Amino acid sequence: MTKRVGFIGLGAIGRPMAKHIADAFPTVVWNRTRERAESFAAEKGAREVGSPRAVVEETDVVVMSLPTSAIVLEVIESIGKAWREGQLLIDATSGDPSGAREAAAQLSKFGVGFVDAPVSGGTSGAEAGNLTVMLGGEEPWVGQAREIVAAYSSKVVHVGPIGAAHALKAVNNALLAVNIQAAGEGLAALVKLGVRAEVALDVINSSSGRSNVTENLFPERVVSRAWPRTFRLALLDKDLGVALKVLEDNGVPSGAIRTAKEAFAAGRKALGEEADHVELVKEIERAAGVEIR
Ligand code: NDP
Repeated sequence: MTKRVGFIGLGAIGRPMAKHIADAFPTVVWNRTRERAESFAAEKGAREVGSPRAVVEETDVVVMSLPTSAIVLEVIESIGKAWREGQLLIDATSGDPSGAREAAAQLSKFGVGFVDAPVSGGTSGAEAGNLTVMLGGEEPWVGQAREIVAAYSSKVVHVGPIGAAHALKAVNNALLAVNIQAAGEGLAALVKLGVRAEVALDVINSSSGRSNVTENLFPERVVSRAWPRTFRLALLDKDLGVALKVLEDNGVPSGAIRTAKEAFAAGRKALGEEADHVELVKEIERAAGVEIR
């Protein structure tokens, strides 16, 4: 029987993910700002409802894409006892391992499964339906989650028990943050001493310092001065906090990731909640007195 899927959180990445879900399954959506759910429903032929509880009442599997695990837990609490045995919550939020374990414990009281299923690939990957999905959890829930996340992904990896996927996602994003900061600092210095940014990136991108940041983000967003807003800096700051906690909980010293956390926390304060993650480079440019072009 075709599963009915609920989607909660039609934000920058949730909305394009939900589009692929709605193409593959009968879909029910809820979003805090209701107009966004209404416009989605009108565009995709999905059903829009007035509360997370109504989503749970009308579906078999629910996907959430929310800013933090704390908000996922609030939404789970607002649903109360509406869950039915055998339902599954797929948490596509970039959350934290302890939040995942707490959510799983709450849901297990109702015989409901939980899989943490954060994504990577950005909003462009979500539009194209070729995200990478990390899964944390146990069978049979992981197998059921695969059937659903296949709608928006091209790579799905079961990485470990509940919470493991959130930990892996946080470490990945910490690497992204470290790269943005280091590339911003290095390129600011090179431009100041007279090397054009395009030339520096051309060399770096055929050398050992290259990364997604130098190959894609800097050419497309910094050198172009386009600064598109696709992934909020505030969310990357949150991910750095999760990564630091993962290191701390496992007795691993943190140097690079702690430095990046301090820079992104300061950038968040200076640039606000809506700034894009790459806009941290603007703060580096401002302090250095140079534009990376
Ligand atoms: P956005 O800030 O664009 O969207 C957040 C969504 O959560 C919106 O639907 C928002 O509703 C809803 N929301 C926020 N606060 C609450 C609340 N208190 N109660 C209920 N709903 C709430 O975030 P993104 O879509 O970018 O990110 C979602 C998750 O995916 C995050 O964990 C992020 O780290 C992760 N992620 C994002 C990527 C990206 O490229 N953007 C890439 C990979 C992961 P409303 O419309 O009312 O504001």
